[in-house]
Amino acid sequence: MMREVTEQRIIEGSSRMSLDTRFCFRCGPDKECFNRCCSDVSILLSPYDVLRLKDGLHMDSSEFLEKYTFTMCSRDKRIPVVLLRMDEETRKCPFVADSGCSAYAHRPWACRMYPLGMAEPKGPNAAVNRFYFMVKEQLCQGHEEAENHSVREWIENEGAESFDHMQTAFLELMSHPGWERPEPLSQDKLAMYFMALYDLDRFRRFVSETRFLDLFEVDEERIEAIAADDEELLDFAFDWLAFSLFREKRMKLRKSPPLRPELIKGISTIAV
Ligand code: SF4
Ligand code: SF4
Repeated sequence: MMREVTEQRIIEGSSRMSLDTRFCFRCGPDKECFNRCCSDVSILLSPYDVLRLKDGLHMDSSEFLEKYTFTMCSRDKRIPVVLLRMDEETRKCPFVADSGCSAYAHRPWACRMYPLGMAEPKGPNAAVNRFYFMVKEQLCQGHEEAENHSVREWIENEGAESFDHMQTAFLELMSHPGWERPEPLSQDKLAMYFMALYDLDRFRRFVSETRFLDLFEVDEERIEAIAADDEELLDFAFDWLAFSLFREKRMKLRKSPPLRPELIKGISTIAV
């Protein structure tokens, strides 16, 4: 599975593959290595991975995060990153069963893409310069097969293209030049960042049960959409974070927010 590979090693050491590049690979329960790749592995979960897993498992986001993940701080930007938690004793993924992945329909993007990885060189037009690369690990016997696919076919067959919009939005946020500032985010902002991206059910309550909507102009249609649909809510979270962290004009403050004493603390935490 997608083990930790440094960005530098990817850019310098791998052949770059395009969507039309073909490769040989086959995985299946008949392989002697079946399920081995689902143990002792670092799987970074994007916000959309968390959304798909918690919805597929019919869990509240806080409960899912508590039960199946742990959080670390990224080395470069000092922001939280979420990883799937392996069993402490066996080091197995919590979803691996004898018959394979018990969360197959909701499995993370990295699991769908394996043995492919994806990279976007830093700089403008990152998505346009995106490329793919092959991850070859000794334990995996899938490379010894003749079955032939293009990268595009692999992405389609594994259902990874449905992740594209949200993965792109997340990568855009993560590679925003605004992160280059010297001082780290305050604890309040870090907590907001984590809640909005990963703890979606709590973020929904935050939007609907605080004075958030008194402060921001959000049209009725979008309010209804984010109340009912997690993907709409995550889309909204990207807009709100781009506004509150980097002052991008993707949200609009109301001209005369009805300021009340209980709101004032919220404003400093939420928006500026
Ligand atoms: S989520 Fe599924 S495919 Fe991914 S590591 Fe766990 S068991 Fe394997
Ligand atoms: S072939 Fe590779 S991906 Fe498939 S089960 Fe074996 S180790 Fe995992």
